[in-house]
Amino acid sequence: MLSGCTPLHWAALRGNVEACTVLVHAGTKQELMVKDKAGFTPSQLASDKGHRQVALFLDMRSKGPARTGLSYGRCLDSNAQRAHSSRWGDKFCSKMMGDTGFAPILLCIIIICTVLFINSVVAGNLTKVTAVVGLWSWTALSLVFGSLIMFYRCASKDPGYIKRYEVDNRTNSEDLLLTIDLNNSSIWTGNWSQLCPTCKIIRPVRSKHCPTCKRCVEQFDHHCPWISNCVGKRNKRDFFIFLCMGNLTSLISAAVTIQRLWTAIPPLPSEETWMHHVVVQHPGAVVFLALDIVILIAATTLTTIQVSQIARNITTNESVNAIRYGYLRGTDGRFRNPYNHGCQKNCSDFLINGYTNDEIAWPPLQQVAAS
Ligand SMILES: [Zn+2]
Ligand SMILES: [Zn+2]
Repeated sequence: MLSGCTPLHWAALRGNVEACTVLVHAGTKQELMVKDKAGFTPSQLASDKGHRQVALFLDMRSKGPARTGLSYGRCLDSNAQRAHSSRWGDKFCSKMMGDTGFAPILLCIIIICTVLFINSVVAGNLTKVTAVVGLWSWTALSLVFGSLIMFYRCASKDPGYIKRYEVDNRTNSEDLLLTIDLNNSSIWTGNWSQLCPTCKIIRPVRSKHCPTCKRCVEQFDHHCPWISNCVGKRNKRDFFIFLCMGNLTSLISAAVTIQRLWTAIPPLPSEETWMHHVVVQHPGAVVFLALDIVILIAATTLTTIQVSQIARNITTNESVNAIRYGYLRGTDGRFRNPYNHGCQKNCSDFLINGYTNDEIAWPPLQQVAAS
């Protein structure tokens, strides 16, 4: 068998409930704990591939006491129900979001904010615009324009989709996965989570299958519903520039709005507070400021997370699911990122190329592949 993989690993990988049940019945409890070359048990593989029902069944079987045939059935039934309800939840979400995601909503928010800014802040019933404030307002508006270009770029660009195995009608698609020659593949590192049963390919390390895009993406970061696209090797830099521009725009326009509102407050009678005056007299500017601050907080949070990950050359997916990936563990089993070349190189590679080269980063990969 290849790379320490048992039939149960295969069955778990494919999410085949019947095969798993038969193999579990026929085998011993120890077989459930056998790890493949990358250190994954059948249950972990099933969970990694999104076969919750199979993963829960194998997990329960390896941990729990011996069960009778009847309780197996019950266990499978309840798991099936759980899997079904979660699938229903997924379906509901995808129906709500459609294939377009939230990108049209974000576009509407940006347009509404821009109109509010021009109408209520720059040209509103406030004081006369000074040269400095005018200059900053123009800067903010130019940045909005730049942000929209970046928004279009990261939403429409190929995030680094990996070419799928073309299925023609004569070939049985089920067999394609079995025809992959693992011994002669240069990218196969013995890590079973590299096999994608949907795309029928061995994907490079650091890539992941996106269920929304239905494709495997190189250096997968995350699927961003706000741009309705994955963030991966090819569009991560655009995404980062978009975030930075969003930050700058919302910061400058918030400062301009606060300055405009502040200078527009006349000496008030003692019973009227400045807050009341601003809300009543300049509602458009207040609504804009509220929206703008929400965008500023969101953009700042995202940018901070991205900066910290870029500096360490780790993707969002890797930081969240570090425990799933064998290549992120050292020989002592502790977390170790082989792609971290030091903050300076990570950042310069990202800014110049938009991504880092992974092939040279982890020599053990080649050794594993060659052995
Ligand atoms: Zn895939
Ligand atoms: Zn995606």
